[in-house]
Amino acid sequence: MLLDGIGDTIRVSLLGDPVPEISAAFDILQATQRRVRKPELIACPTCGRLAIDLEKIVAELEKRLEGRKTAVKVSVLGCVVNGPGRGT
Ligand code: SF4
Repeated sequence: MLLDGIGDTIRVSLLGDPVPEISAAFDILQATQRRVRKPELIACPTCGRLAIDLEKIVAELEKRLEGRKTAVKVSVLGCVVNGPGRGT
């Protein structure tokens, strides 16, 4: 509906503390490219080729990117298959 331009408000209801509902709503708006207001961190889903401690690296990156307003995408891959050196 957001992508089709239907409606101009969003309401998110989560179980428990209502405070995270605001950031969840902004995450939905960012995912639909309606309002990008922070870096987007994308991690590979991991598989048998995983060669690094991806969870630790992603947690560290989340900390470092927290509070930043730059609209960039940061992609973290767990091996070289789809990263630098691919096909070499
Ligand atoms: S980037 Fe590498 S580790 Fe991550 S899912 Fe793809 S092949 Fe697996």
